[in-house]
Amino acid sequence: MQKKKILIIEDEEDILALISYHLLKEGFDTITATSGQEGLSLIRTQLPQLVILDWMLPDANGLELCKKLRSDTATAKVPILMVTAKSEETDMILGLETGADDYLTKPFSPKVLVARAKALLRRQTIPQTERTPLQVSGLTIDPSTHGVTDREASYSLTTTEFKVLHFLAQKPNWVFSRYQIVEAVRGDAYIVTDRTVDVLMVSLRKKLKTHGALLETVRGAGYRLKKIDS
Ligand code: CA
Repeated sequence: MQKKKILIIEDEEDILALISYHLLKEGFDTITATSGQEGLSLIRTQLPQLVILDWMLPDANGLELCKKLRSDTATAKVPILMVTAKSEETDMILGLETGADDYLTKPFSPKVLVARAKALLRRQTIPQTERTPLQVSGLTIDPSTHGVTDREASYSLTTTEFKVLHFLAQKPNWVFSRYQIVEAVRGDAYIVTDRTVDVLMVSLRKKLKTHGALLETVRGAGYRLKKIDS
């Protein structure tokens, strides 16, 4: 099997070397950039399967870079693992709202980093049996392309947002707890606050526009995707 390619964008050389070392040891291919500009050009020419992105770069803010990657169709779907020295929850939420798929605060253990990277990569390879597009309430949800469409438009979601929607759509009207949603979306168990799920729901509703109302909050229980005849 071909090695999975991971792009690391980080201006601190020793952290860059450390991340790269541990990923190489796990059998991944790595490419590295020490600035946002360099990272952007590498992502377009090298097409990595995962991007590890530092929050603070000399020429760019990780959040802005993240937005840029999400708005470009060529790079919109690549999973982004944000790495930052900031540890406040508001920053994490900001990162996830901007389109990062996961978040890691410095200092981190290399083991945790590798586990998160693997989880993100695993999420990309959905088994064949789960690749059939789902038709729910006027929406077509296609796991093989991560596409969400209705008769008129298509909706661009991050990998994590797509996974949440696809999970709920497999059992329309069924109420799932935040915990179940987190479990379904994450490959490895680690701490994710309920707030993270709430934030994902807010951005999903926004992105799905008129269909956003299909995502219902069930007080004290969780969330569901409402089934309506279309
Ligand atoms: Ca930095």
